[in-house]
Amino acid sequence: MASEAAAQMNFQTMEHPAPMPIDQRTQVLLTPGFGTQFTDHMVSIEWSDTRGWHNGVIGPRHPIQLDPAAAVLHYAQEIFEGLKAYRHPDGTAALFRPEANAKRFNDSARRMAMPELPEEMFLEAIRLLVEKDNGWIPEEEGSSLYLRPFMFASEAFLGVRPAKRYKFLVIASPAGNYFKSGAPAVSIWVSSDYTRAAPGGTGAAKCGGNYAASLVPQAEAIERGHDQVVFLDAAERKWIEELGGMNLFFVFDDGRVLTPALTGTILPGITRNSLITLLREEGLTVEEGRYSLEQWREDATTGKLVETFACGTAAVVTAVGRVSGHDGEFTIGTGGPGQLTQKMKDRLTGIQRGLVADSHGWVKKL
Ligand code: PMP
Repeated sequence: MASEAAAQMNFQTMEHPAPMPIDQRTQVLLTPGFGTQFTDHMVSIEWSDTRGWHNGVIGPRHPIQLDPAAAVLHYAQEIFEGLKAYRHPDGTAALFRPEANAKRFNDSARRMAMPELPEEMFLEAIRLLVEKDNGWIPEEEGSSLYLRPFMFASEAFLGVRPAKRYKFLVIASPAGNYFKSGAPAVSIWVSSDYTRAAPGGTGAAKCGGNYAASLVPQAEAIERGHDQVVFLDAAERKWIEELGGMNLFFVFDDGRVLTPALTGTILPGITRNSLITLLREEGLTVEEGRYSLEQWREDATTGKLVETFACGTAAVVTAVGRVSGHDGEFTIGTGGPGQLTQKMKDRLTGIQRGLVADSHGWVKKL
């Protein structure tokens, strides 16, 4: 993955060995849940309107200093990505479709009036960090090293305009199960009081603000005993869009599969895109279209809808078992993972972990 753009950056390297959280008895890396533990290095690159991208460093993970007037703290110019490094049976490490993350990162950057990062530089930064912190990739089934590239406006200026200085960073976190319960199927709460994204808004960008806006409805879901919130469209409050951090698929008894179309208010998930390809290879008809909450309830009740699953990098493929809202509750299928959900999960994770042949060129070995 090395490239001219990356070579020009001439990353400085600084050593910082730190102890890993190892189970002393089994000598296995401990991976508690998701996002709580971090490796000991990070990558940083700076951008200014006069110098462009410069000062690439891979060094110790450390707190960053920010001026109190840094634009990100006031106007939320911030974007991020999420991808994973997997340990393969031969001991090597591999990434899954990292170029798709690089591309989506730049799509987000354009929407938030931020500078684009050359894709090769994004990929090189990730490769360097995974190489450096290779020992932090957990091996247990279902675990991986979660990588979090992000960029924010660091310029000290209170006027409302695109900033003239930015920082790009990559940090890494050994990750186990996304859902604390490790549940075979999740239950979700339909948010009818809040929406996530409006037409013309930032729903298709991976910017921090979208997630800030989802916290109250997500907290409401948890309070009511559910795992996740599902958002409806902002205009009619009728059509299913996505969960707070996952896309959705609906499976019908006639072998049809439907996923909400990318209308600009939904995040174009890389897992979603990969699953559309894999489902079509299974001979299924996959439609990208609209599906209303009302129809979802009716189809689940009549048995026309047999499965629903959510998908994303962090949560992989997870069955939706129960759906609740102000109008009552319904169960999908048996309330547990259906056959297709399980099959697609096995197929996708098999490719990611190097257990199933990758005929698409999705897996990038380091
Ligand atoms: N929707 C939202 C809102 C998300 O945050 C994510 C996670 N990035 C997804 C969907 C799934 O995207 P991906 O498959 O690329 O992880």
